Amino acid sequence: MTERIRLDDLTSNQLDNLYAETDRLTAELTDYDKRVQQVEELLRIAHETSNRSEAERARAVMRAEHAEAETTATATAAAHLTSLVLDRAERAEAAVARVRGLHHDWEAGPGHCAHCQDGMGTPLPWPCPTLRALDQPAPGTAATQATDDACNKPPAVTL
Ligand SMILES: [Zn+2]
Repeated sequence: MTERIRLDDLTSNQLDNLYAETDRLTAELTDYDKRVQQVEELLRIAHETSNRSEAERARAVMRAEHAEAETTATATAAAHLTSLVLDRAERAEAAVARVRGLHHDWEAGPGHCAHCQDGMGTPLPWPCPTLRALDQPAPGTAATQATDDACNKPPAVTL
């Protein structure tokens, strides 16, 4: 620390130096205040940015949770539909197997259906029309789609 000069011993030059030092310190203090304000502004911006980021993160989490719930619901619905379709296919295959069990080449009259007869009770030639209908090639995709669409609609009511 500088040695203290008595007021009576203070020269004009020393007084000028003290005023200059006071001016320099005042300017430095002003600059320090500006820098403090800048730091405070930067902190405020950082805080706002952090709050915005947190809000965006929370929205992203909500969107992700919503998407996950939708995906789960869709998967559940798809599994249910698959189960329904498989059940329907199994029932259709069982029905075809039962029909094939009835319509076969008759052991007692080879070359004739064991089930089908004409109006006079005469066995029909084997393979019978029922078996030929079952053995027809599957309809094309478009026809199948149209049939499937028709199956999903409620039956038409005819009065
Ligand atoms: Zn038959």
